[in-house]
Amino acid sequence: MNQHPQQSDSNDQFGKSPRCGAREAAIAVASVIIDHGFTAYLAGGCVRDEILGLHPTDFDIATSAPPDEIAKIFRGARGVGEAFGVMLVRWKGRVIEVATFRADGVYHDGRRPTDVRFATAQEDSQRRDFTINGLFRHPVTEEIVDFVNGKEDLANRILRAIGDPAARFREDRLRTLRAVRFAARFEMSIDPETEHAICEAARDLKGVSRERIGGEFRRMFAHSTRMRAVQLIERWGLDAPALDESSSVGDCPRLAGLTNEPSFATVLAAWRLDRADRVPPPIAGAWRDSLNLSGNEWKEFSEILEIVSALYEQWEDLSKSGRKRLAARGAFSAALQILVAVEAERIGGIRAIVDALATEVGGLAPESFLTGSDLIALGFAPGPRFKTLLDRMYDLQLEGKLMSKEAAIALARTEWTA
Ligand code: ATP
Ligand code: MG
Repeated sequence: MNQHPQQSDSNDQFGKSPRCGAREAAIAVASVIIDHGFTAYLAGGCVRDEILGLHPTDFDIATSAPPDEIAKIFRGARGVGEAFGVMLVRWKGRVIEVATFRADGVYHDGRRPTDVRFATAQEDSQRRDFTINGLFRHPVTEEIVDFVNGKEDLANRILRAIGDPAARFREDRLRTLRAVRFAARFEMSIDPETEHAICEAARDLKGVSRERIGGEFRRMFAHSTRMRAVQLIERWGLDAPALDESSSVGDCPRLAGLTNEPSFATVLAAWRLDRADRVPPPIAGAWRDSLNLSGNEWKEFSEILEIVSALYEQWEDLSKSGRKRLAARGAFSAALQILVAVEAERIGGIRAIVDALATEVGGLAPESFLTGSDLIALGFAPGPRFKTLLDRMYDLQLEGKLMSKEAAIALARTEWTA
């Protein structure tokens, strides 16, 4: 965000941005298409990002060449979503997405157009969602081709739907969440008509696939502007349909306090706890389903919430071994990181205790002196008692009441026969 948008389409300014391999590959592919007599531009997000002085990772090409011509020009070009005219072209180890200019037909389910037809560059820019995403850049002259007044909106940092906002959000209801992501990520204000249309369409987000919704959340929460994203989500009433719970607008101190690139699960847990002050907790598993969380994301999310509740309800009464066990859990530091924003003093105290426990022999989670195979070697018959005994031996070890394997074996013998 260090470059003034209006200056950036001069070649001088543009030439200063470091080039990555992906950009070079996209320019080479677009140039080859042009050499074959077609039009080809860098398109969409990459043009927007470069004008903003950011370094995009993906460079997409939009072209007048139909897919079969792309297949003739580039051996090994592969069709993906061919109905939409999208081809993947390999270039020096990179894969570049090349899409034929198209106009989308009628959207029948608020998700996908029923048909598309190949079209002009202008029509292709008009089927895109926001003016800032509707720009093209010539790969050789680097001239910006702007049919939607996107340059001006980028310069003024305004997010504006292309065309009739209400119609555009009706066509694809995920665009409401995309609006949040772009407005937050690029710190933009929202054109009032666009904002009004988002609020009107908010409820319909419910019909969008959970996979697409989860994907948008993952992308917006990966960025440090996630707090602004959450404010917009709540303000526009997108929280209820996205999370499948009541709508609620309010402060999010735990979320706002997160630093150091928190995991997606950590961000969600912080937001959940912030909302818990305002809305009743959802039924178990609700966020997993509504945001299509992976098994690992769900596990981490639930574990953080479990640890947080243990810290509130049990910490004071926990024995040393109980504290060590809790502090050794993978999500423990994420739980503290979330709570520190609202209870700095208490969390500071817990951290000091855990730091002290960590300096004891073996740290928070020493290797257990005894295992199941040790018990078998002692001639004990495996069964449910094994776990109880092993847990107890490990607790004693964590308490510092068992200092060696030999001592543990001796005690296990006594306890087993007792
Ligand atoms: P990001 O940097 O997050 O990838 P992006 O703008 O590149 O942002 P993509 O989802 O990669 O977003 O889409 C590439 C381009 O395709 C967009 O810039 C936009 O022009 C168009 N586009 C993507 N999704 C939609 C949509 N749901 N409706 C209309 N146009 C879209
Ligand atoms: Mg992209």
